[in-house]
Amino acid sequence: MKLADRLNQLGTENAFEVLSEVNSLKAAGRDILSFAIGEPDFDTPENIKQACIQAIQQNQTHYCPSAGILPLRETIAAYIAKTRNISVSPDEVVVTPGGKPIIYYCLHALVNPGDEVIYPNPGFPIYESVIRFLGGVPVPAPLLEEKDFSLDTEHLEQLITPKTKLIILNSPQNPTGGMLTPKDLEQIAAMAVKHDLWVLSDEIYSRMLYSGTFTSISALPGMAARTIILDGFSKTYAMTGWRLGYGVMNRELATAVARLITNCESCTNTFIQYAAIEAITGPQDSVDEMVAEFKARRDLIVDGLNSIPGISCKKPNGAFYVFPNVTAACKNLGFADSKELQQYLLHSGNVAVLPRTSFGEKNTAETQEYIRLSYATSRENIIAGLKRIKDALAAKA
Ligand code: PLP
Repeated sequence: MKLADRLNQLGTENAFEVLSEVNSLKAAGRDILSFAIGEPDFDTPENIKQACIQAIQQNQTHYCPSAGILPLRETIAAYIAKTRNISVSPDEVVVTPGGKPIIYYCLHALVNPGDEVIYPNPGFPIYESVIRFLGGVPVPAPLLEEKDFSLDTEHLEQLITPKTKLIILNSPQNPTGGMLTPKDLEQIAAMAVKHDLWVLSDEIYSRMLYSGTFTSISALPGMAARTIILDGFSKTYAMTGWRLGYGVMNRELATAVARLITNCESCTNTFIQYAAIEAITGPQDSVDEMVAEFKARRDLIVDGLNSIPGISCKKPNGAFYVFPNVTAACKNLGFADSKELQQYLLHSGNVAVLPRTSFGEKNTAETQEYIRLSYATSRENIIAGLKRIKDALAAKA
């Protein structure tokens, strides 16, 4: 009774493991404050829920095309065209259960064994996991604190070889909250065109921006046909459990991804797709309110973390994560790395955070230690959680 060898190559998303550890500690009666999971603590807006209920009552409960229902693909095409300043047709849109499957399917459609894929590190762990699973070669592009966790584009170009197939970008970024600047995007686009590369632009946090406007690499010269835009409903409309996302990509790739969907889940839940039309076309006040609240929480958590000895935290401009530097705290308290600090905070401080290594192995020459906190939790929890961290560190000092 043996499992297939390929599973040895498959990674995971550590946040879910910490979540289940937190849940079992809670079930055992422990009062844990969690900053571990990246999902809005808001409820899905009422108009979206009602549109879903109505779609069920209208019996939108059957199979639909693998790429998604046409009215939703039309809605998404119009939304992406407007927000990214590009032209998009509905047959360039593929709807999936969450944004995550776009990573899995597009990499399956593009990566041959031995192909190199450049991805941000620290970064969303699923990129590296799926690249490895396919026999591709993961090539981490370091995100550096001194560059506000954007990419070092000069270094990025050095990572490109004749075997490079694809570059994965994520801005605003998980776990650092970092952003790529318009200049970074221009330089990366020029490299992609010069070396004939695909770009998977993970734009799932594109609406979670605290100043300025969002720019997509897809709008730059030569990029339309080679960019896959990943976006979805999980974060923007607080719909993580609904499982709904999408990719925008050239027709040939969209057809290939739809064929993969036919082989796996057949199609995304039909009535949920009707609710998604309401999400995009209905009132956006709840998104604006949520983002305003995240901004206030960001300020609260950044100031609070910076007031704790041994911790220093940059103020990110997007997403709902902070990635404080905890090197001094680890050193002062005798922890070998952020994983030991994370375990100490969980078991002795009753606070759940994620260590740096939940987002990839450290880059060569990386000397600093980091943890990630999601501030998608109430201000009350943030204040209480920061006090617990401060007290736990002081107790060990
Ligand atoms: N991409 C990034 C960078 C994420 O952080 C996440 C979720 O945490 C996803 C994609 C997947 O989102 P979804 O829940 O819609 O599958």
